[in-house]
Amino acid sequence: MKIAVVGGGLAGLAIALGCEKNGHDVTLFEASTELGGRMKTLREGNHPLDVGFHVLHTAYSTVKDWIDLDALHIKPMDACTMTIAPSTGRRRLLGDALRSPQYLFPTLKSVGVFDGLRFLRWRMRTSARDLERDMDEPTPSIAEGLHQRNFRPSTQRVLRSLFTGITLDPTLSERIAFADFTWGAMSHGKMVMPRDGIAAVPHQLAARLRSTEVRLNTPVEAVTKSNVVVNGQKEVFDRVVLAVPQHVAQRMLPGSVGEHRPNERRTTTVVFVAPEAPFKQARLLLNEEWGENSHRVLHVHLPTNLHPHPDGHHWVVATLVGEDAEEVDVEAVKAELIEWFGASVNQWSLLATTTVRHALPHIDPQHHARTLPEVEIDGILLAGDHRTHPSVQGTLRSAERVLKHLDIPVPRRP
Ligand SMILES: Cc1cc2nc3c(=O)[nH]c(=O)nc-3n(C[C@H](O)[C@H](O)[C@H](O)COP(=O)(O)OP(=O)(O)OC[C@H]3O[C@@H](n4cnc5c(N)ncnc54)[C@H](O)[C@@H]3O)c2cc1C
Repeated sequence: MKIAVVGGGLAGLAIALGCEKNGHDVTLFEASTELGGRMKTLREGNHPLDVGFHVLHTAYSTVKDWIDLDALHIKPMDACTMTIAPSTGRRRLLGDALRSPQYLFPTLKSVGVFDGLRFLRWRMRTSARDLERDMDEPTPSIAEGLHQRNFRPSTQRVLRSLFTGITLDPTLSERIAFADFTWGAMSHGKMVMPRDGIAAVPHQLAARLRSTEVRLNTPVEAVTKSNVVVNGQKEVFDRVVLAVPQHVAQRMLPGSVGEHRPNERRTTTVVFVAPEAPFKQARLLLNEEWGENSHRVLHVHLPTNLHPHPDGHHWVVATLVGEDAEEVDVEAVKAELIEWFGASVNQWSLLATTTVRHALPHIDPQHHARTLPEVEIDGILLAGDHRTHPSVQGTLRSAERVLKHLDIPVPRRP
């Protein structure tokens, strides 16, 4: 078959690979100048800098099936999160005591025994063998679900900040089942970062393509079940797969892939070079007071604590989330971080700012991860995280659904 795949992000690449390995004639259309989509890494001074805080979870079953982790030279982040209340300077630690017993007492001190037991129960409820299990049923939103789970208000605040960072949605409208899925992924595997940045993941799939014709810089204007329109010219295919982000799919297939929402789930990072690392661990420092009193920095991490810069530079990445994240005032961010780390922040210099618009899709709480929504609409096959759930696992799962629909096996990784 002649197959067109529109979109060269992780989903499109996985589908192209599966189709070509099964003997099909694949053309991959990508609007931008490079493959990889939202898993994007810049190079600053020849060192990788991810566009947005992005980790890979080793517990994802699809990662095991598709990705050669050894070849990515991954390093794991610590199995804990530090939090800060900038107004008091108080820091707390939340760690996975089952995996790293040294985190037991600091975690109990942070959240108390009862919330410690609630965390344990939550962890025990997750299934290492089937992380997505809870997403097969409709569930309430994360905001509602966290409330129902009776955590103390101070723990709720931490969890709200944590899931705002994971879903990039301050309203926490994503399904609580998605929170359960990520909690399970954190509990049953490691959060790792590839040596060459997160883009190394889709680039690994791209490097395995042999016969696929890749057309970069080629925005597709419209699709039907057998046509792709580029520069006003129709090209004919036996099957067309649309593997573009949700907002583009909404434009191309109006009314079919959910209502359009103006809220974009934006995230911005402000990256500084610091003479000294403000903390040495490979962890997230999460703002418990995010959103209060104009606290705009949601979390800080230092990618160079994990993969050191060859020149010994320390990179401090401050992450902002929300619709106004793009309107970033670097001096205001620095002033906020002085509250966190003291006057040494004055010695930091700006390295870069990055913004992702339409960073993650909106998923209706009624949507089921594995069975709904449909794979095919008007004869067009649909893939991408908006068809399943907003994660690497969801994205690869959406690709597997399309391959299964075409009766194509998932290609074995080398
Ligand atoms: C900042 C950030 C952090 C994240 N962190 C995590 C994390 O820690 N863990 C996790 O599991 N997931 C995370 N994710 C989610 C994960 O990266 C995405 O779910 C996944 O990359 C989506 O892949 P995709 O192929 O569906 O879409 P995309 O990567 O968006 O790929 C779609 C492609 O289609 C192309 N395209 C668009 N329009 C056209 C057109 N008209 N014609 C041709 N091509 C077109 C785009 O240029 C793009 O390359 C994060 C996402 C972001 C943005």
